[in-house]
Amino acid sequence: PPAPAKTQLKTTRSEEVFKEALTLLPGGVNSPVRAFKSVGGQPIIFDHVSGPYCFDVDGNKYIDYVGSWGPAIVGHAHPEVSEALKEQIYKGTSFGAPCELENVLAKMVIERVPSVEVVRFVNSGTEACLSALRLMRAHTQRDKVLKFVGCYHGHADSFLVQAGSGVATLGLPDSPGVPASSTATTLTATYNDLEGVRKVFEANKGEIAGVILEPVVGNSGFIPPTLEFLQGLREVTAEDGALLCFDEVMTGFRIAKGCAQEYFGITPDLTTMGKVIGGGLPVGAYGGRRDIMQLVAPAGPMYQAGTLSGNPLAMVAGIKTLEILGRPGAYEHLDAVTGRLINGLLDAGRAAGHALCGGHISGMFGFFFTEGPVTCFEDAEKADREKFGRWHRGMLERGVYLAPSAYEAGFTSLAHTEEDIDRTIQAAKEVFAEL
Ligand code: PLP
Repeated sequence: PPAPAKTQLKTTRSEEVFKEALTLLPGGVNSPVRAFKSVGGQPIIFDHVSGPYCFDVDGNKYIDYVGSWGPAIVGHAHPEVSEALKEQIYKGTSFGAPCELENVLAKMVIERVPSVEVVRFVNSGTEACLSALRLMRAHTQRDKVLKFVGCYHGHADSFLVQAGSGVATLGLPDSPGVPASSTATTLTATYNDLEGVRKVFEANKGEIAGVILEPVVGNSGFIPPTLEFLQGLREVTAEDGALLCFDEVMTGFRIAKGCAQEYFGITPDLTTMGKVIGGGLPVGAYGGRRDIMQLVAPAGPMYQAGTLSGNPLAMVAGIKTLEILGRPGAYEHLDAVTGRLINGLLDAGRAAGHALCGGHISGMFGFFFTEGPVTCFEDAEKADREKFGRWHRGMLERGVYLAPSAYEAGFTSLAHTEEDIDRTIQAAKEVFAEL
């Protein structure tokens, strides 16, 4: 199929809306990456989304590979999800009291995710991760936490730690407003570097509450783990009495029906979830071994709460989304279209003479403008970001909406067809030739 025609993208209305937004919202947005700062130009203002497409306020249509940063895995505005929401909405939008829908979604999560015996729903990935950190500390009665350079676990103070190179550095705050005392107990190491992790544990024997990681990195671009790395983390943490927490906010129900932990066959002690689990509504969750989760209030003393947690609309959207993902062939479809996409992109780019490396697992993909291999954030930093900005613009002009940052993974959905993929590759051929 032909590439979507390159148009002089009409953005008059987007520009007007954004100009006003700049006077109302910090930087014109409610979450920073949306502002297109790292790729240049102005953000596109969305009007509506449907299936694999998004439509902007100027009437432009794009094939979407952001999918609301992950949740839209069954396709935007899936009719079954919308219908279920419509039915629920007349029963009330928030109860602040227990409802049976919470049990339904909890059972689906517990049945699918190997590490989860008990789960607590919250309202975002950030909340899930900060609660899991509190729980790791409560359970072990230790304060330190080890995270990896380039992994994002939401914006809680303890996780906003400057990525230090080298084996491990004591964390320094990454953002003004985060007291040094909040990050003093945050240790960092290099992703995929097990030796580095061992050294951190040797230097902090019996003091580390837990290790948290993205089991497939999506927040430094797409970086898969080695199996030895994940196995090693499981061993090192168990030996030291520390906990292992997989942050599956991005990978959960995207990499496989039982999340990345099922895909790699490594069971952590705790898991955080978000994005897909809310089917496009604000939901996060953390769960794990029963004995650990029993510490959470009111079962135990570790306080954590939420006015809107377990919200009935959010539960309904999550239930329907996981139900659709549970049907035969769902993950096969994600793998097939995403493989076709990334292989097509890599072939097209290399044929045009660009140094590229990349890959995919199921419905998550990414590539870097560098020869590679990229195994950690430090490698990702070697990629050509200026070229990425021009690539992003070129694709946008041809009706393909990609994450506006070289440090983000891409996402496909059950709604993406081979035709959408082939149109994207055609567009990419034109753009690669221009770069
Ligand atoms: N953890 C990971 C791996 C994420 O990718 C994100 C968000 O992108 C978060 C945590 C934070 O989730 P939220 O944006 O819902 O607070």
